[in-house]
Amino acid sequence: MHEMSLCEGVVQLIEDQAKTQGFTKVSTVWLEIGALAGVETEAMHFSFTAVARGTVADGSKLEIMDIPGRARCPVCAHDVQVAARYDDCPVCGHYPLEIIAGEEMRIKELEVQ
Ligand SMILES: [Zn+2]
Repeated sequence: MHEMSLCEGVVQLIEDQAKTQGFTKVSTVWLEIGALAGVETEAMHFSFTAVARGTVADGSKLEIMDIPGRARCPVCAHDVQVAARYDDCPVCGHYPLEIIAGEEMRIKELEVQ
């Protein structure tokens, strides 16, 4: 389950921000996760609660926002929405596509106290 290590990274970032920005408690974390990142939302919630325990994010609410997957076709040059990394071009059928969005994960916003 790689969600656990992803959450460790997220909580580490939050702890770093808490140090530099001087807050001591986070109440809500908005996390953007790409549709192609292969992350299970439920596992993410479960892992986050476990990893956040004893940190500034202890007891905070995790809000997950999806970033749709987008790709560019190198043959017909269309920008297309993709649901999976291995989709082929819906316009001309070419494979593989160049993924341009949807693999990333980032903290969008923190609500702090
Ligand atoms: Zn194409």
